[in-house]
Amino acid sequence: MNRILIAEDESRIAAFIEKGLRSHGFTTAIAGDAESATRMALGSDFDLLILDLGLPGKNGLEVLEELRGQGENFPVIILTARDDIQDKVAGFEAGADDYLTKPFRFEELLVRIKARLRNSTATQTIDEMILKMGDVVLDLRSRKVKVGTETIELPAREFTLAETFFRHPGQVMSREQLLDRVWGYDYDPGSNIVDVYVGYLRKKLGSDLIETVRGMGYRLRT
Ligand code: CA
Repeated sequence: MNRILIAEDESRIAAFIEKGLRSHGFTTAIAGDAESATRMALGSDFDLLILDLGLPGKNGLEVLEELRGQGENFPVIILTARDDIQDKVAGFEAGADDYLTKPFRFEELLVRIKARLRNSTATQTIDEMILKMGDVVLDLRSRKVKVGTETIELPAREFTLAETFFRHPGQVMSREQLLDRVWGYDYDPGSNIVDVYVGYLRKKLGSDLIETVRGMGYRLRT
C-alpha cells in the first residue's frame, strides 16, 4: 500500500511531494503530462494518484475520467490551484476521492493520503511488504534489503528499481517501462541510466539476479 503516482507538471512541486513521500516510506513516480499520467496509471500497480488538473496535453479531469472508465479504482486526490466550488464538484463527479487546493502544506496532503489508503479496500498484509527472490529479501516497510544474512542499504532509486523487478518476477521489463516507473519524467530517454543502475544492483544483490534479455530489457530471474 505504498506506491503513489504524482501527476504534476511543475517539477518543483512534484519534487517537493516526492521527497516528502519518500521520507515517509512511500514509493513514488512522477508523470509530467496527461498522456504519461494515463499510461503510467493504467500500466502499473499504483495505490494512489495525486492529480494536478492543469496538465500539459489534457485536463486532469479528462485523465481521471479515462482512468475510471477503464476500471481503475485506486484513490485519487486532486491537488490544484483551482478552488472554485464548480471545479471541486466536477472533480468529485469525475471520480476523485479528495480535493486539496494549492498552496498546501505537505502534512495535510500526507494525512489525506493516509486516510485514503486506510479506506481503500486493499489492506496490505505483512507478507506483501516482504518481497523475496532466492536469498535476497526486500522489506518495503523499512526499505532495507537483506542478501543472505547481510543487511544492505540501497539509495532510493536503486531500491525502487529493485522493488520494480521483485514485483514482476520473471517478467521482461523494457528500459522504457523501468524509466517510467523508477525515474518518472525525470530522465533523458537516450541515457543509459537503467543499464548503469542494473549494474549497481547486480554488484550489490548478486550478479545473476537480473538477466539481460537481448533487445528487450531485463528480467528478474526466478
Ligand atoms: Ca499544473
